[in-house]
Order: sequence, then structure tokens, then C-alpha cells
Amino acid sequence: MTSKNIASNNAADTDMEKRIGWAMFRHMLGNAAIPLLGSGAGSLLVAGAFFWRDRQTIAIPWLVVVYATIVIRIYLTRWFRGFVAVHGFSERAGNWYALSVGLSGIAWGFGALLLNNAPDVICAELTITAIQAMVMGGAITLGAVMPAFFAFSIPAILPMVGVLASSGEATQMVLAGYSLIFFVLVSLVARNFNRSLRRALRLKFENEALVDLLTERARELALRANTDGLTGLGNRLWFDQILESEWARLKRSGAPLSVILLDVDHFKLFNDTYGHVAGDACLKQIAQVMKEVCRSTSEFVARYGGEEFIVLLPEVHAEAMCGVAERIRTRIADLEIPHETSQTAHHITASLGAVTVQCGGSTTSADAVALADEQLYRAKALGRNRVEHLAWGARDTPA
Ligand code: GH3
Ligand code: MG
Ligand code: MG
Repeated sequence: MTSKNIASNNAADTDMEKRIGWAMFRHMLGNAAIPLLGSGAGSLLVAGAFFWRDRQTIAIPWLVVVYATIVIRIYLTRWFRGFVAVHGFSERAGNWYALSVGLSGIAWGFGALLLNNAPDVICAELTITAIQAMVMGGAITLGAVMPAFFAFSIPAILPMVGVLASSGEATQMVLAGYSLIFFVLVSLVARNFNRSLRRALRLKFENEALVDLLTERARELALRANTDGLTGLGNRLWFDQILESEWARLKRSGAPLSVILLDVDHFKLFNDTYGHVAGDACLKQIAQVMKEVCRSTSEFVARYGGEEFIVLLPEVHAEAMCGVAERIRTRIADLEIPHETSQTAHHITASLGAVTVQCGGSTTSADAVALADEQLYRAKALGRNRVEHLAWGARDTPA
């Protein structure tokens, strides 16, 4: 593998990491309402219990702090969404937002003060359970961004562990130990969730990239299958498809279809005199002329095979068709590509057979091409470097 390849692979990896990072963040933002709702409902329940037991002085300020952080976080989440919409996602801005989640953690950490003032075991248990439930919920709602999970869970649970551990009572110390173990286990759950989500997103993005690549390749292949490699014109396969679809369309409306078949004069002699490479260059120049004369999107030019080209002019009448054919013939002659051994001129010339067919009746698209070929044969027989044409009516008679 070359150093250039390694560099582009590294760039693709960094790009992928950034996409995953932003998707993980979006996942957390998408869940932002859930922990806020949990926070609002949980704090109301705990504060209510303390209020009921005449602990208003501690319950009300705590509830105010929790709700204030909810309001601040709603505002920050909206602001951050707007910031990302304008400036795009950056890891730095993301980390700052993640830290702001810590405000809720601190508010719940103050819940440890309630424990010190708990009127009975029920209130104390309710507080401990509420804090643990918040941390457990955080593993899923914030686990997509680990800094956010820790910013919330550490300040939420550690003050409670500290208060329980410092009480000196055996049961409370056991509860402190239990809460600590609980915190470690929930952190592991959050980490595993984070890894699974990261893996799933990587797989999703890799699949998307693969689908994009395959679609692009399929488009390239379809284009190549329809293109003549030498001249860049449509090839015979492409022409046949266009002829069929145009014929079907024009048959419905009964509109005319003009076909011009072109054959380079004495091209075998040209190859024999100047070589095959010069022959190829000559065919490219002729193709270019045809492209230039038939610019419109409704005019179709293809390489029909060898040194033969074909033009399809839907809804074009005989007179206009003859104009196009004559323009092509003159412009090829005007190229003045030397052809010393030609018996027609001292330069490259082409003969053209043209036909305008009224689509309908029993005439088929193959008939149209065969009629153009007949005219080409006539042009050759009548001395080459000329256009011979015919108008064919719908009732299989010359119009
Ligand atoms: P006429 O005026 O009667 O058409 O004579 P001609 O020599 O052009 O006709 P003929 O069919 O005998 O020869 C066609 C030549 O076109 C033979 C072939 O070598 C050449 N040819 C076909 N395809 C290519 C190509 O892709 N490149 C080159 N250089 N020559 C080609
Ligand atoms: Mg030929
Ligand atoms: Mg020829």
C-alpha cells in the first residue's frame, strides 16, 4: 500500500469517527427530554414526601434547584441544537454541552442533604432509590456520550455515598458500599451500551458508503455498456434501445422519424495508406463533427459499427433531415483529412443515406433503418460523397 493510500485511508477513518461521534451525540440529544422528565417527576415525588413530613425548609429549596437546572438545560439543549445547525458539530462544543448535563447531577447530588434531614427510613430510602434510578436511567439516555453520563452520575451519587459512609451506622455504611458497587455496575452497562451503539453506527455508515459506491459503479458500468469506447458516442446497443422507445412513442402520435446512415468512403484504403491509428483518429474527428451538428437532446447519434454512424431525428420532416445530412457531409469534407488513395477526393469524404418514415401502419423500426441503408447504397453507387434520401409514407408507399 502506498503512503498516499495510507493517508487517504486515515482521512476516511477520521471522517468516519467524526460522523459516528456526531451520530452518538444526536442520539443523546434525541433522548434529552427523557432524563429531564425523570428529573422533574422524581424530584417532585421525593420533595413531596419530605414536604408531607414537615421538611419544607429543605424540600422546597432542593426542588427549586432541580427545576432551575431543568429550565437551564432545556435552554442549553435548544441553544446547542441551533449552534450545531449554524456551525456544524464540533467535539469541543459537544464536550461543553456534555458537561452542562453535570448541572442536573449536582442538583441531584444536593439530594444527599435531604438524607441528613430524613424524618424516617421511608423518606431516606425514597431519596436513595430516586438518585439510583436517575443514575440507572442515565446509562441509557446519556450512555451514548460517556462524558455526559459521568458528568451527571458522579456528582449525583457520590455525595450520597459520602453522607451514608460518614454516618458511622453499619446499615448506612452497607448502603454506601452497595451504592458504590451499583454505580460501578451501571457505569459498565453505560460503557457497553456506548460500544454497541458505536459498532451499530459504524456498520450503518459502512453499509451506506458501500451502497453509494455500488450505485456509482453500476451507473458507470451502465454508461460504459452504452458508450462506444473509441468515439464516446452511443453504441449500437444504446441506439437499438433508443430506436425502439422512440418508435413506440412516435407510433402513438403518428409523427415522422428521420434516420440518417453514414459510411466513410474508401476507409479500408485510408487504413491501408495511413495506418489503423490514423484511421481511429479520423473516426474520432467524424464523430465530433456529428456531435456538433446534432447538438439537440432530441437528436441521437451513435456509432453503428466500423466506419458507419447513424442519426435518429424524431419528429423531423424530410426537408430538415436533408439539411442535417448535407451539413454533416460538408463538414466532414471540410475537415480536409488527406486521403491520397481515395477515388472520390483527395481528402476523407462520407456517403449518407437518409429516410423520413411516417411512423404507423405496418412499417417497423427495422424497415426505417433498412430504407436508410438502401439510400446509402444508392449514394455509394452514384459516386459517393453525397446524400441520397427518401420519404416513406405510413401506408408502405413512397410519400
Ligand atoms: P466504401 O467507400 O465502399 O465504404 O469502402 P470502405 O473501404 O470504406 O468499406 P469497407 O467496408 O471495405 O471497409 C471498411 C473499413 O473500415 C475496414 C475496416 O478495417 C475499417 N474499420 C472498421 N472499424 C474500424 C476502426 O475502429 N478503426 C479503424 N481504424 N478502422 C476501422
Ligand atoms: Mg462500411
Ligand atoms: Mg466505408
